[in-house]
Amino acid sequence: SLKGRIALVTGSTSGIGLGIARALAAEGADIVLNGFGALDEIEAVKVEIAAKGVRVAYHGADISRPDQVAGMVEQTQAEFGGLDILVNNAGVQHVASIAEFPAEQWDRVIAINLSGAFHATKAAIPGMTAKGWGRIINVASAHGLVASPQKAAYVAAKHGIIGLTKVAGIELANTGVTCNAICPGWVLTPLVQKQIEDRARREGRDVAAMTHDLLTEKQPMAKFSTPESIGAVAVFLCSDAAATITGTQISVDGGWTAQ
Ligand code: NAD
Repeated sequence: SLKGRIALVTGSTSGIGLGIARALAAEGADIVLNGFGALDEIEAVKVEIAAKGVRVAYHGADISRPDQVAGMVEQTQAEFGGLDILVNNAGVQHVASIAEFPAEQWDRVIAINLSGAFHATKAAIPGMTAKGWGRIINVASAHGLVASPQKAAYVAAKHGIIGLTKVAGIELANTGVTCNAICPGWVLTPLVQKQIEDRARREGRDVAAMTHDLLTEKQPMAKFSTPESIGAVAVFLCSDAAATITGTQISVDGGWTAQ
């Protein structure tokens, strides 16, 4: 059980982050939500999570802003009395060839998908090591291990976060704090739905056929992983059984990176 643990999940108003927040709350962890979205929808998520009998708060920090990220970690510690589980999940995508890639999109993807995780990790470490227990979980991607065309910033950021995970794992080895990455293949979230719809439009195909092609192009398993299954892996990484798993990654990718 994670009763009494305090978890901050970045980008948890949607998709995988929400799946992880729900799974941690189901184990009894108090939850700090983060991410963008309509305030009434965020309020509904808060109510749903609070119904599991845990404390819940929301912080609207923009993960691309280092000061806001550090402020969110400090506020969590002040309000909830600590921060035991940090899940760096917020992420964005931009699809274009390198030659066409807008520099500001490169900066944005690196800032959110990579630097945000660094700033949050840096802010969270002192409290975790003082307590002698902590879990840092980075949501990377199959694109942290292998590349695809048109995704330079995303692939670079995800490879980078796996490097950051390794460094944190070895630096924190004897502190009671572990750091690991989860590498999902395709999960049907708004982030992926947009890619499918953009590509279907561009290639003049219908969404169902495009979805099947997108899945099978990279992934031997022609089906999506779910936010719930990623949440279950996060719960496992927080368990005592995972106490000596650190600096590594767990793929949930339907065979994508086995090839
Ligand atoms: P999503 O678009 O459903 O959710 C992204 C979340 O991040 C949202 O809550 C959004 O509000 C938040 N966010 C975006 N920019 C932010 C910012 N600047 N500050 C704070 N929050 C911000 O996407 P998802 O598919 O659930 O992606 C979550 C993570 O999983 C990402 O890191 C993504 O790269 C990774 N991932 C997704 C897939 C997939 O197939 N969906 C596969 C591998 C990895």
